[in-house]
Amino acid sequence: MNRFFRKTKTCEVVKKLTVKTVMERSLIREGDRILIAVSGGKDSSVLAWTLSAIRPALKINYELAALHISTDFCACCKKSVLSQRLEEWGIPFTDLFVPVIGRLKKGEKMNCYWCSTQRRTELLKYAVENGFNKIALGHHLDDIIETFFMNLCSKGELSAMPVLLKYRKYPVSLIRPLALLEEKQIISCAAEQNILKNACTCPYGQNSKRRSMRSRIADFTAGDSGAIKRRIFAALGGGEKDYLSEE
Ligand code: SF4
Repeated sequence: MNRFFRKTKTCEVVKKLTVKTVMERSLIREGDRILIAVSGGKDSSVLAWTLSAIRPALKINYELAALHISTDFCACCKKSVLSQRLEEWGIPFTDLFVPVIGRLKKGEKMNCYWCSTQRRTELLKYAVENGFNKIALGHHLDDIIETFFMNLCSKGELSAMPVLLKYRKYPVSLIRPLALLEEKQIISCAAEQNILKNACTCPYGQNSKRRSMRSRIADFTAGDSGAIKRRIFAALGGGEKDYLSEE
């Protein structure tokens, strides 16, 4: 066995649940060119590892490449470590510099919303210009549930992060193959594969709303093995619409 694809307990579960998500939601098709957005953190690293490791199980021909977006304010990612890891997994790596703070207009303040919008725009542009038809993101079950409750409680919106999003304006879709995985499974798989060393130290990364929602969700799912979160996730895919409004 290749030493970079060790068979370890949690990583086998990660692979199984990723294959299930990919097959049930038709996230990957023959001939897809998939661009993985990699930050250097555990989520996107486990995503890259998994998409490479599940090739034999999927029996689909698809191409993988990874894009890291460097900014003018956060240098926490060790790019040489990241590119070496990706190379070991057979994934070509590109680093793109985006001056996120440099694009702020006078009087505007830096925040996570601005940063992610700038980076998402560049990611899309890079994918379209380089012929990729899918962009894979490392969001997991906890991210999706937290976003759902944050949108519900802060904006009064029933929305979350879709597992598959087809853009109308661009020939690209977003996919979230780790959607069925809890964060603790990703942390454990990253540790098993020895890829847990690039913690983000972004100075703007103190998203207190998300942290507070995370602890509220932990309160009402306490002691549960993830089943409640998976039921909430399942409800996001359907729902009894007649019982949601009077129309
Ligand atoms: S935590 Fe930092 S890098 Fe992440 S979105 Fe916020 S500002 Fe950008």
